[in-house]
Amino acid sequence: MATVSLENMSKSYGPVAALQALDMRIGDGEFLTLLGPSGCGKSTALACIAGLEKPSGGRIVFGDRDVTRLEPHQRDIAMVFQDYALYPHMTVRENMLFGLQQQRVGRAESERQVVRAAEVLDLGRLLDRRPAELSGGQRQRVAVGRAVVRNPSVFLMDEPLSNLDASLRVRTRTEIRRLQRELGVTALFVTHDQEEAMVLSDRIAVMRGGVLQQLGRPMDVYRDPANLFVATFIGSPAMNMLEAELMLQGDTVRALVSGQTLSLPRAVTRSSWEGTRKALLGIRPSDFGITAPADAALRGRVFLVEPVGPFAYVDIDIDGWSLKGTCDPDRAPAIDDVVGLSFVAERVCLFDPETELRL
Ligand code: ADP
Ligand code: MG
Repeated sequence: MATVSLENMSKSYGPVAALQALDMRIGDGEFLTLLGPSGCGKSTALACIAGLEKPSGGRIVFGDRDVTRLEPHQRDIAMVFQDYALYPHMTVRENMLFGLQQQRVGRAESERQVVRAAEVLDLGRLLDRRPAELSGGQRQRVAVGRAVVRNPSVFLMDEPLSNLDASLRVRTRTEIRRLQRELGVTALFVTHDQEEAMVLSDRIAVMRGGVLQQLGRPMDVYRDPANLFVATFIGSPAMNMLEAELMLQGDTVRALVSGQTLSLPRAVTRSSWEGTRKALLGIRPSDFGITAPADAALRGRVFLVEPVGPFAYVDIDIDGWSLKGTCDPDRAPAIDDVVGLSFVAERVCLFDPETELRL
């Protein structure tokens, strides 16, 4: 087990700056996820940590050991990729034993570890099959099993679930998390799927264009995004954004939205500013309710109702700005109804439209 520290790590491919001055410390036994859209540098960061790529600058430290210049096999890591890369001529058992034999672990101990991992990953009955005789999900579980039986200090996973269908993805992620906890291994996981990152991680590092945007616990990043990018990337459906003009009045922020006025607590703003200013007002679909128009500060017209089962999505037009909310499917408004919106005021996030940072 080990901590992993990235110190001012950068990586360029010719003119392309894939990673810029990445600084983070992953705790011993922590599950940390690198999250961001395609091309933001997640795989590059993982490949540098694994030793498959050399950083252009900065250091990588495991525990108190500088591993920046070490070869992959000297780093005590195990890695799982999106395409599971199992040996086709070997059985599940042989695939899982292979890494252990390379590490010169004794036969009996190796067998014991393989059986234990197979049990946790529900592969017990499949140990004598070859990869061609397994489903995609089973193959991916073998790849995970093969990585974890080596009992690495650091477990690296690059989008290991993206080839699986939706229900299997949910089951396999639960297994990965359970296994990681049981083994207490430090894990770095890469995904572009914000829900996967939310449910799996102790902390999430949100990346964009090779730059770390925010690092925090899932609910902190969700509730308290540092900027517009993080706010809209995390959460599905995305956080609604409305153009607003703000005015500070004592302990209240008055937000003018399409000619209607909302009152928000002063605590929703971070920076100090005076007088009036423009802002983007963000509110998540689950953070406002739909009420009778008469008692509401904000009103809009319903243009779409989508029942999901446990709830329905409701799309509301406020003077050309559209807002997605949720409601009880049995009490959903009708299309073209004028409804009131009651915001959970302390959940509102305000952004500077120029810098895209929180206000
Ligand atoms: P992600 O995994 O987040 O999708 P990558 O780390 O694969 O992103 O890529 C980050 C950036 O670096 C992209 O712009 C990509 O095109 C570039 N890149 C990655 N690998 C190479 C390479 N071997 N040569 C040149 N450019 C690369
Ligand atoms: Mg990638």
